[in-house]
Amino acid sequence: MNLKNHTLLWTFTASYFVLVFVNIHLSFLAFFCLITPFVLLWKDRRKTWCQYYCPRASFFTRMTAKKASDKPIPRWLFSPKVKQGVVYYFLFNLMIMAASTTQVALGKMAPMLMPRFLILFPIPVTLPQLLTWNMPIWSTHLAYRLLSMMLTTTIIGLYLGFKYRSRSWCAICPVATLSDQALQKQAEKV
Ligand code: SF4
Repeated sequence: MNLKNHTLLWTFTASYFVLVFVNIHLSFLAFFCLITPFVLLWKDRRKTWCQYYCPRASFFTRMTAKKASDKPIPRWLFSPKVKQGVVYYFLFNLMIMAASTTQVALGKMAPMLMPRFLILFPIPVTLPQLLTWNMPIWSTHLAYRLLSMMLTTTIIGLYLGFKYRSRSWCAICPVATLSDQALQKQAEKV
């Protein structure tokens, strides 16, 4: 892969985790990273995001390059079953996020105002907020859920990056798996 402006791209991911201390609602920027890869895939019919623009891949490279063990990624990690499992987890996470946000908006559930690791494990921290915005509580709940998803995948990506090669996360990244599946379906149609 060939990330353009490699030395700067990683700062977008680093900034994301700083901006949530300015205001948690800035975690909505995660939607940009979730949607843009598929817009570019649809437009270019190839994985432009992965090849040129992904700030997360750049972040993993930057953070782990000097300390990565450089061991090859074990085969099981990029087996179809594991890749598909991560996709299901990703879709399940989005579903829980949408359902819980709706419940909070309807007043049927208390908002969860802290990040979680892997959906299940609360990280009991109160994020200091530099700016206070008057936003509906459901949006604050959603903001923490988005941060949780970004935080979880970043922690796992860093772990894999140190344990194996810097961009090991890319082997199981749901964006890549879903993009590959879309490209394969398209090729079968031709
Ligand atoms: S596989 Fe995922 S982390 Fe890797 S470059 Fe593509 S979108 Fe980024």
